[in-house]
Amino acid sequence: MAVPQNRTTKSRRNMRRAHDALVAANPNECSNCGELKRPHHVCPSCGHYDSREVVAVAKALDLDDDAA
Ligand SMILES: [Zn+2]
Repeated sequence: MAVPQNRTTKSRRNMRRAHDALVAANPNECSNCGELKRPHHVCPSCGHYDSREVVAVAKALDLDDDAA
C-alpha cells in the first residue's frame, strides 16, 4: 500500500482546502411564471424554456381519494 513519504502540515492542508468552499446557487427568474429557476434549465414549476413550453407539467395528484 502506498504510504506518504512526508507528513502534510496544517499549513499545506489548509492551503489546499482554501479552494474547497462551496459557491451559492445563482437562480434566475423564469420569464413565464417568475419562479426562480436554475440558469439554462427548464423551469420546474411551469415547464417553460426560452418563453415556450417544452415539458408538460402534470397536475398535482389527489392522494386522498379512495379510488385505490
Ligand atoms: Zn416557469
